[in-house]
Amino acid sequence: MNQAALILIKPDGLKKSLTGNILTRLSESKLEIVAAKMVRVSKALAEEHYKHLTDKPFFAEIIKYLCGELHDRRKVMALVYWGDCAIAKCRELAGSTNPEEAEATTIRGSYGRITTSGVYENVIHVSSNEIEAEREIKLWFNPGDIIVELYPVKEISKVKKVKVWG
Ligand code: UDP
Ligand code: MG
Repeated sequence: MNQAALILIKPDGLKKSLTGNILTRLSESKLEIVAAKMVRVSKALAEEHYKHLTDKPFFAEIIKYLCGELHDRRKVMALVYWGDCAIAKCRELAGSTNPEEAEATTIRGSYGRITTSGVYENVIHVSSNEIEAEREIKLWFNPGDIIVELYPVKEISKVKKVKVWG
């Protein structure tokens, strides 16, 4: 079953120059990259992305983390991977959320760490299920950024051919 998954290379992954290594690991999935861009992350975008974690004690720290405040890098690389069982394949290559519990051969097991303030700096985000993937992809990308039509769209200007999520 073909699926889409949002991947974010988080600010620690960029600061540690891991973009190439992470993309190489993910290429083992044989999935197709259908969108990719660098994004400057606002507090509002980070809070919307992690809105289901608002009640967690680590919420404020992970917002700072995703915004790049912990790494002096106010950006992430956002990608959409597409193909058979994309979410399970990418999450397996990423490894467990806690980098100390992640298998050593996974992306998080290889490159993640836990900070002294307890944040799991795990270098990569992967959508956790199809509903979350759709919500996240629509949050981070416009329809025109993606080379396949993943979800319904509507055209809001015939002249300029501007499309938004339907
Ligand atoms: N996180 C953390 N401490 C925790 C749980 C999560 O610092 O106890 C951070 C970690 O960076 C994680 C992010 O919050 O990637 C989002 O948490 P989630 O439970 O969605 O894990 P994920 O889906 O990223 O594996
Ligand atoms: Mg998650």
